[in-house]
Amino acid sequence: MKIVVKVGTSTLAHATGRLNIRRVEALVKVLSDLKNAGHRLILVSSGAIGMGVGRLNLPGRPDDMPTKQAAAAVGQCELMYTYDRLFGQYGHTVAQILLTAGDVELPQRRHNFENVMGRLLELGALPVINENDAVATDEVGVSTTIGENDTLSAIVAGCVGADLLVILSDIDGLYTSDPRKDGGAKLIPEVRAITPEVEALAGGTGSALGSGGMATKLKAARLVMERGCDMVIANGQRPEALYDIAAGRPAGTRFVGRKDQ
Ligand code: GLU
Repeated sequence: MKIVVKVGTSTLAHATGRLNIRRVEALVKVLSDLKNAGHRLILVSSGAIGMGVGRLNLPGRPDDMPTKQAAAAVGQCELMYTYDRLFGQYGHTVAQILLTAGDVELPQRRHNFENVMGRLLELGALPVINENDAVATDEVGVSTTIGENDTLSAIVAGCVGADLLVILSDIDGLYTSDPRKDGGAKLIPEVRAITPEVEALAGGTGSALGSGGMATKLKAARLVMERGCDMVIANGQRPEALYDIAAGRPAGTRFVGRKDQ
């Protein structure tokens, strides 16, 4: 299978912004193993800004654009250095691709992106993708950014014709109500359509260092489902769940792609 895995900052870093070494090592081990089993993998990784915050000893996620850009430029290096080193231990080669909105919106540039992705996968490399946060900034009245990696991962899944998108987050999946507030909240194992009732379940919360939430995940689900691709939201605390997810076994919440195409 061709699988896009998206990891959020909350999975990769501690609340301090410093790398969660145990978590990242476990994630890289599972991804390497799935790659050895024959799956083609693409990693969409957040964490550039969060890790830059840690590396530059900033007090928290910056509010001003230049500091965000600077944090991303520093943190992206640390991210890739970490992936290169850890995947290298299992004999896998990573490739960095940093995108801005125009790269996936303008047909010629999207075509270039699809070409390089196809070739990287043929060559057996593991593309690691993020938005180019050091330069992708919103100008007044002009939206030049994708803004968060849930949507970016869904766009990437579309560009590469993925069979499956897995979003690893700090929550087990979609719940009947917010499990952080309601002890009776139940995990929904499968969603076949993004109905208004499903949308009503998405609160707006994200973690302190990341920028997503359930709403952006549902937007991502809608994007991939209509292309016939499944999407699973699962907890990044246990990367081993990826074995079950890749095998189609129950884990997290699976959004089932349209199968009539
Ligand atoms: N591109 C951002 C980063 O690497 C993350 C965006 C997101 O949290 O979705 O820090």
